[in-house]
Formats: sequence, structure tokens, C-alpha cells
Amino acid sequence: MKKILSLRLFLVVSIFTGSILWTAAYTEPTSSIPSRENILSTSYGTPPTSPTSPLTPTALILPPTVFEVIPLSTMTFLYPDTLTLQPGVMIVPSGEIVQETPIPPNERPGWRKLAETDHFEFYAENGYFPAAIEDLQEQAEAAFEQVSAQLGLTVTEKIVLSFKRPDGSECPVRGLATPSNPPEIVIFADERTSPEQIFAVLSHESAHIIYLRNFPEASHGELSEGIATWAARESWGIWQGSASLEASVRDYIRDSTYLPLYENYDLQRAYNGANCLEYRDILYTEWASFVGYLIDQYGMEKFQELSTSAPPDETASSITFKPPDYEAVYGYSLNQLEAAWLAWLAEEE
Ligand SMILES: [Zn+2]
Repeated sequence: MKKILSLRLFLVVSIFTGSILWTAAYTEPTSSIPSRENILSTSYGTPPTSPTSPLTPTALILPPTVFEVIPLSTMTFLYPDTLTLQPGVMIVPSGEIVQETPIPPNERPGWRKLAETDHFEFYAENGYFPAAIEDLQEQAEAAFEQVSAQLGLTVTEKIVLSFKRPDGSECPVRGLATPSNPPEIVIFADERTSPEQIFAVLSHESAHIIYLRNFPEASHGELSEGIATWAARESWGIWQGSASLEASVRDYIRDSTYLPLYENYDLQRAYNGANCLEYRDILYTEWASFVGYLIDQYGMEKFQELSTSAPPDETASSITFKPPDYEAVYGYSLNQLEAAWLAWLAEEE
């Protein structure tokens, strides 16, 4: 049971971030990380095709997403030279490798603690820390205070913060949050990464940690990205050059780049393909504005209830993520709420 629970925890995180967790046994593979198809077979339910407009008042039933977990013993061929899989090390849907019980950072080879603040411990991995440590200490505390106030939540454990070099893959990860104990944030950056991006990623990942440490059973990736981006919307907007989440969504609608939420609740476009970053920014912004609308209209407690509704079905070989139970919490389906939010956006303009 413990294994399944912790597997779910890591699954949730990795889906949110499309990211990499490492272990003592892990060294960067020389070949590119295998595609998701090599890791496991995933079946996504067919999105509803009729009616096609989110503006329809007819409630739509959204299909679940099923991940089949392939036993690790079949995985060793993926990294024949570079990785020896250890007991308790798992490969999760996005192709990442996680360890059930993370090694404490101060016991990791090559890790060195640089500083500590009220909410963070800063580590350099093999001397890599592409930011001024004094500035970052201040920024991290500012980011934490900002998103903590937005969420009305906090965490007592200090967050371990480190950097990795920018992810050079076709669909790169920019930040990683792991709500383990201790919680961890990794920022993918180098000296050329803008301070705005580092601050926005730091804020967003801090929001993930704070929310998921308080609601570990929250399993819906789109809502997690929505609440994290919403809580960090100030720095997100500065990074993205946007006046507000709502202004961005209005631009998407005007430019016909809007992606219907009810067709994109699995966030697959955000994590796959050459245009994934563009889609990721659009979808995170849309979900953040939508989550903000739900909080504004119905309150934070209802959103928290939604985020923990419809927990996944888990077996040793598969995890079935079910869409959140919008109808039970709000009395409307996702597409109906999406329609109401879009109408509100149009009115507020
Ligand atoms: Zn995120």
C-alpha cells in the first residue's frame, strides 16, 4: 500500500512538471530519454466530439486516463550503460526515474549546502548554482510569501532548492516540484535564463509544494497547474509579458489560439511535441484563470474539495486518473463551468 501511495505521489508530480528526478544510481543517460511510448502504454479516452463548443449548456461526461505501469525488471534495457536500477526506483509515465525514499540532500554525492532561510535550503549539485545566492535567498522568501498568502496555506518543512542545466529536449521541463519530505524544487536554468523566468518558476513550484503538502490526495494535474499558476500569477504575468491571466485568455480567443479546457484536461499537448511550450503556457494560463474564476465564484474550500475529488483507481499495474467530479462539487460539468467562465470573461472586459 505504501508503495502504491508513494508511486501515486511521484506520478502526480511528474505529470505536472514533465520533469526529471534523479537518484544516486542515476546519471544522465547519453542517449535521449526514451519516449513515453517506450515506458508504458497509455490510453486516453476519446474527448467528447459533440457538441464541439464549450458554450453548450449540455453536460459532457469526460473519459478517464489510464496509465499502465510496466514492471521495472523489464526496463533495464533502456539505459544499458548508464543506469543500474535499484529496488524502489521507479520509472513513471513521463519517462522519469524516481526513488521511493529520496536520499537526504546532505548525503548525496556532490551536493553542498550553500545557505538556509526560513523556508528554503539552497544546495549546489557538483558546484552548479547559476544565480547569486544572496539575491536568490531574498527572491525565494518573497516568492514563498506571495504564493502562501494567495493560497492561505503554508508548510513547515524547509524546501530543498537546487538547479539543473536547461533541459535541451524537444519539450523541455523548466521546473520541478516534489512534495516529499523534505520537499524539493529544481529549477532548470543557466546564466542566460532571465531572472523573470527563474522567479516565476520558483513561485510556481513553491505553490505546488505548498498546495500538495496540504492536500497530498489532490491528483488532478490540470487543477494543480491551474492553482499553482494562479497563486504565482503576478510573477507568471511578468515573465509572460501579460497584464493578467484574463487578458491573456482574451488574447487567445481573439487570436484563435484558445484551447478548450474540456478537450485539454489531460494536458497532453503541454508535454508532447515541438510546440509543447507554447501549448503549456496557453493551457497553464487558461487553467489558472479558470481556477481563479471558480475560487472567486464559489470559494477556496469548494476548489479544495474539487481538487481532491474522484481519486485515481490504483492497482500494481495501472493507475486510472478520473476527471474531477465537477458535478458533485458545483452542480455543473466542466464544459458548463467553462462556458460560464468565458461568458464572465467577455462581460468583465
Ligand atoms: Zn507546475
